[in-house]
Amino acid sequence: MRPWKILRMIPFSIQKVFFYGYWKGKMKMLGCLFCQMASHEKPVKTLYEDDRCLVFEDINPQAPVHLLVIPKKHISSLNDAGDGDRELLGHLLGVAARMAKEKGIDGSGYRTVVNTNAEAGQTVFHLHIHVLGGRLLAWPPG
Ligand code: AMP
Ligand code: ZN
Repeated sequence: MRPWKILRMIPFSIQKVFFYGYWKGKMKMLGCLFCQMASHEKPVKTLYEDDRCLVFEDINPQAPVHLLVIPKKHISSLNDAGDGDRELLGHLLGVAARMAKEKGIDGSGYRTVVNTNAEAGQTVFHLHIHVLGGRLLAWPPG
């Protein structure tokens, strides 16, 4: 069956929801700093890269080692990660641990942080894992 014939079988009200969601996602990506870095549209000194994620140094480091692990897929925050993203989230954490080892802070200790929304201090709305270490980190965090 031709694709447009399948499309005609779907009520217009459902089509609208699908296309709105699709374009909303595209719009977000267009203006997103980390999407631009993930696609190398904006130059970035990459420490690690694979088909699903990218690692680079934080521009405003809060510790001697402060890396950011970001997915290439645009996910605004942890709140927006769906069930289908579980494997990706696990991958990001695995890469964070590998990078900590590479930086020599796996033994001394490090912190992985995902800030979500305003009260946690999220400023870039593209999911990222902070990897912080190389100094004693206070607890509870500020
Ligand atoms: P958050 O406040 O948890 O959203 O973290 C965003 C982080 O991105 C902050 O620690 C910023 O310093 C960092 N950041 C913002 N712009 C850049 C950039 N161009 N390159 C590297 N890190 C950045
Ligand atoms: Zn993005």
